[in-house]
Amino acid sequence: MTCEQETTELAAYAMAALDPGEAARVGRHVRACPGCAGEVDEIRAALAAVRLLPDEELVGDWSGKLAELREAAVRAALAEDPPVPRPC
Ligand SMILES: [Zn+2]
Repeated sequence: MTCEQETTELAAYAMAALDPGEAARVGRHVRACPGCAGEVDEIRAALAAVRLLPDEELVGDWSGKLAELREAAVRAALAEDPPVPRPC
């Protein structure tokens, strides 16, 4: 890591899970920072690959990567939309 940009934020950005203001801020940073741009590219490629693969293909070499992806996705989802139980 060569900068302070959060990997969680980058994952959310790659998944288009940020609100427009946040996406614009992260997008500006990503365009100026090759390290983060590569990170976003990797996340996007991994997400695309996971979406394309049937379940039975998601074994072996993918298992380690998937755990990371799920963690990133969960963190991003939590950061973007915190679960607030709302009784009626
Ligand atoms: Zn960066």
